[in-house]
Amino acid sequence: MLISVASGVAGCLQLTWLLLGTYELTTGTSLDARTSRRLLVAAAVGGALLQGVFWWDPANAEIVYHLRVTLRRLFVAATALVAARAISRTPRIARAIGRRSVMLALLGLAAHQVQFLALGTDPGIRHQYPLWIATLGLVDVMLYFGLAMGLVIWLLEEERQATMDAAAKIEKIAYHDSLTGLPNRQLFLNQMGMALHRARRTGTNVAVLFLDLDRFKIVNDSLGHAAGDLLLQTVSERIRSAVRGEDSVTRLGGDEFAVLCTEVGSPDDAILVAERIIAAVKRPISLEGQEVFVTTSLGISLYPADATQPEALLKNADAAMYRAKAQGRDLVERYVPELGAAALEQLGLESHLQRAVEHDQLLVYYQPIVDSSSGRINGLEALLRWNHPERGILLPSEFIGLAEATGAIVPMGEWVLRAACCQVQRWRDRGLTHLRAAVNLSVRQLQHPDLVTRIQQVLDATRLPATHLEIEITESIAMRSSGRAIDSLRALKAKGVRISIDDLGTGYSSLSALRLFPIDSLKIDRSFVNGVPNNTDDSAIAAAVIALGQTLGVNVIAEGIERPEQLAFFTEHRCAEWQGYLLVSPQTAEQCEELLFGAGGALELERVSAAFAVR
Ligand code: C2E
Ligand code: MG
Ligand code: MG
Repeated sequence: MLISVASGVAGCLQLTWLLLGTYELTTGTSLDARTSRRLLVAAAVGGALLQGVFWWDPANAEIVYHLRVTLRRLFVAATALVAARAISRTPRIARAIGRRSVMLALLGLAAHQVQFLALGTDPGIRHQYPLWIATLGLVDVMLYFGLAMGLVIWLLEEERQATMDAAAKIEKIAYHDSLTGLPNRQLFLNQMGMALHRARRTGTNVAVLFLDLDRFKIVNDSLGHAAGDLLLQTVSERIRSAVRGEDSVTRLGGDEFAVLCTEVGSPDDAILVAERIIAAVKRPISLEGQEVFVTTSLGISLYPADATQPEALLKNADAAMYRAKAQGRDLVERYVPELGAAALEQLGLESHLQRAVEHDQLLVYYQPIVDSSSGRINGLEALLRWNHPERGILLPSEFIGLAEATGAIVPMGEWVLRAACCQVQRWRDRGLTHLRAAVNLSVRQLQHPDLVTRIQQVLDATRLPATHLEIEITESIAMRSSGRAIDSLRALKAKGVRISIDDLGTGYSSLSALRLFPIDSLKIDRSFVNGVPNNTDDSAIAAAVIALGQTLGVNVIAEGIERPEQLAFFTEHRCAEWQGYLLVSPQTAEQCEELLFGAGGALELERVSAAFAVR
């Protein structure tokens, strides 16, 4: 009886283990240790009871034995089938054999039990087929061995698959942009390398398209980074859908993308693709309930005509893109060889530009702003010059755009502000207390969160009263300003700093938009002044701005006065202040000093005699 109980317990434990193992393998989760232990104990007790206690009947020992064995076989067969079915529903790993071996072993086990059942029902068979009987035990052992081996292999294969999945994930992270899921620069260059290799063999063209979104920064700054991210994702999807499946798209960083088009027939084909991309990007994008429009500038370079190496192709497409931007954005440009030189020159300028402040290469020229009724110099506009070590004195038009693009404008602008405030205060200390400093502010400075504090620091350091500083922002910058920039201007205004709108008439602003700004002065742009008095439109606009200023109580300055008849016009229309070559051109602080103190603060009449003669 003891042996019988022990075998019952062992059998039930074996089956429970088999079921627990299958559960863990198929669900990927394991039962906690306590539950497993309870199940095993229950199985052991169940096995003991069934086997020994309830079935112990010495009178019918033979029948009871057969019944017990039959039931046990049935149980084992059913469990093996259940386990095999559960395993068949687990995900299959390609070309793996572990899972399949386990399933086969389980099915084999189930079938094997059925043989035993047959033996149990007809004991005569044992004598009829002795060889078969002799192999049964061996088959039993082999099936269990197969099951065990299958399980080990299966586990190892799962482990290997997990490692491969992790490696694939790591590769995805290393070679893809996390925001858009597009290949990154490295992967793109690798793909380009392979494409060029193929193109070399087949003699076909490859095109590289370099894209940069126009004014992405404005969206990012005004709607926030989350909206900016969404915009980049939308744009990347649009670029993807505008090109063929086999073309590769990458995000190179920020708002720059590149596309690799293989087997391009002619440059015109690449231009067609580029135009498709431009049109796709241009469609309105809905961001946070607002319709946003972005455009893109695009440069193309072709293999083998423009370059033969991946890096060079990308660089040339980039140079072409810069030209598209310079031509007015929302355009496509094909690479032309001179671009290389221009880009190189720009690079040279760029590296020098970063160091211009440190190397003391910046200069401020001052251009007087003249009182129209007395000829007195009311203020001085600070105009930046760069004394380039090789190229001499450069005008803002030659480097301000680059300084804006690289961010160098922020330290440069601050340097000009400090120099001008310091210089004008020095002249004020010498008796010209009415003088004000007019300083141009770039868009980057205006958007800088510390603008107000920095200006205050400069005023404190130079002792210039806030009321004697006028900051000039161009109308187009004003129109693109975000809420933060307007808040900064209001805070400055509250301190007494004067705000002037420069280049008025070029920024397409509406009067209602201008009302947002706390304005003290309006500067009529040179282009209108130039048309005065012969061009009737320009004259009408200039006269209207002066009238508007008078109504709003805002100071109006006419800038760029070059000819006496212009001066006559502005005198007639009672424009408060004048600025221009006809009066005084921008000059160094020393030259200005002569003018300021030599003439007692008023303009030397003979310098502008012609002008004043017209009055
Ligand atoms: P702006 O602020 O409108 O400055 C006036 C520009 O007109 C100056 O050019 C000045 O030399 C020029 N100008 C003055 N009178 C006449 C004239 O009668 N005829 C003609 N044809 N031109 C005249 P400049 O110095 O080349 O500066 C150009 C622009 O560069 C400035 O235009 C301003 O927007 C920007 N800029 C200059 N200095 C700075 C600076 O320190 N920071 C920033 N952000 N921008 C600056
Ligand atoms: Mg100005
Ligand atoms: Mg101006």
